[in-house]
Amino acid sequence: MPTMLQVSGLNHRYGGGDGAHVAVRELSFTVEAGQLACIVGPSGCGKSTLLRCIGGLIKPTGGTVRLHGDLVDGVPDDLAVVFQDYSRSLFPWLTVLGNVEFPLRSLKMSRDERRARAREALAWVGLADADRKYPSQLSGGMQQRVSIARALASRPALLLMDEPFASVDAQTRFELEDLLRRVQRERNSTVLLVTHDIDESVYLGDRVLVLSSSPATIVADLPVGLPAERDQITTRESAEFVTLRAEVARLLRDRNAAAEQALAEQVATTEQVSTGRANR
Ligand code: ADP
Ligand code: MG
Repeated sequence: MPTMLQVSGLNHRYGGGDGAHVAVRELSFTVEAGQLACIVGPSGCGKSTLLRCIGGLIKPTGGTVRLHGDLVDGVPDDLAVVFQDYSRSLFPWLTVLGNVEFPLRSLKMSRDERRARAREALAWVGLADADRKYPSQLSGGMQQRVSIARALASRPALLLMDEPFASVDAQTRFELEDLLRRVQRERNSTVLLVTHDIDESVYLGDRVLVLSSSPATIVADLPVGLPAERDQITTRESAEFVTLRAEVARLLRDRNAAAEQALAEQVATTEQVSTGRANR
């Protein structure tokens, strides 16, 4: 499989001087075409920062991102993003169809073609009949399906998803997870999804990248050996699933404990240095 995404030595620091905050440190990985890769890490570890750097929404302070070999510098045309907050990501004054069509306006195609593409994408997510509704007339889960359809309508080379199911109830979340896996396989899309939910990363992923707490760096890159056909009940009770989720949980716990230890030592050293100075 050709490489779709290549992240090399990525660093991102917010601000400068004493107020500087390193959010991402020396992060490197690749995602192959047709893969659904999950990144899991604790809240605040730098997942959104990482996705924003990959999507060209912010310029990283170090390192490079390549999409099918091309250096990312600004938002690429063939990249789409789905955010957590569906209530703010759709235009309330446009119908469902209008929302899905909207980003296609920047592509060279006729009005009819645009409409056909948008209808096709709505069918992929099971919303063919909701085309004339407005976002406020839909449930949260349906709104997020519209966001997914909108992202897929342009047939992006890479779909980035930032905790896309974190704001819906558990039952809807399961439905959306299954919908994403189905559509991703049918379209052979390349997806990079970040989540703080360990179970979700294992259930969805062909592969799970585990991040450390802030600054984000990769602690493990685990292949998910589960069968391609997954089921919310049987997959989650299978031995492979249970073992893998425990492995991810252990990596996150141990890594965070190590980070806290390092921080405590750093603070102790700083205190010694300042007391030393005071005594002089
Ligand atoms: P996550 O998505 O994993 O919860 P974020 O990438 O949003 O984490 O944030 C990582 C760290 O960077 C956090 O400590 C956060 O406070 C900080 N951060 C995020 N955005 C900014 C910003 N615009 N300016 C300064 N610090 C930021
Ligand atoms: Mg985030």
